[in-house]
Amino acid sequence: MKPIVAVVGRPNVGKSTLVNRIAQTSDAIVHESRGVTRDRSYHDADWNGREFTLVDTGGIEPLKSEDVFSASIRDQALAAAEEADVILFVVDGHTGVTEEDETVARLLKRVHKPTFLLVNKLDNPAREQERLWDFYSLGVGDPMPISAHHGHGTGDLLDKVVALL
Ligand code: GDP
Ligand code: MG
Repeated sequence: MKPIVAVVGRPNVGKSTLVNRIAQTSDAIVHESRGVTRDRSYHDADWNGREFTLVDTGGIEPLKSEDVFSASIRDQALAAAEEADVILFVVDGHTGVTEEDETVARLLKRVHKPTFLLVNKLDNPAREQERLWDFYSLGVGDPMPISAHHGHGTGDLLDKVVALL
């Protein structure tokens, strides 16, 4: 079994964009099943020869209400976190902290697994550094700036991730 790196966070923060950047192929959905796991997809990835399985969460089932929304991200984050060796918690640097981010953060703090807090959409990291500070309030460690679109920060991130695998 390869180590598992799970990507969690509320919808629209850029989880799938990040997975597609890191994984070798963008169509590598190799497993889907019932329940909360229907919302997870598994992708082969490696960095400097270290192989791992990258798990994307969310986005398949349309969400009906705010309650369903919260329950769904909670279930997905929990299921992904439970099977993960390392967790990538993605938030949106342009919107700042939301209630859904806080919901995910609370859950991850209970799981006690190595977690990286990734502040995505910082396409101009030098100019957008101040957007990071808000995210310290989530209490899950130092926020790291990334741009899943452009790839800024993802090499440094992967160095740190594989060091833990
Ligand atoms: P998910 O719901 O968390 O999987 O988010 P997606 O990967 O589907 O991305 C949601 C939206 O954010 C899409 O319109 C992406 O193009 C956009 N997005 C993702 N990453 C970045 C980024 O690094 N910079 C910017 N500007 N937009 C991004
Ligand atoms: Mg997605």
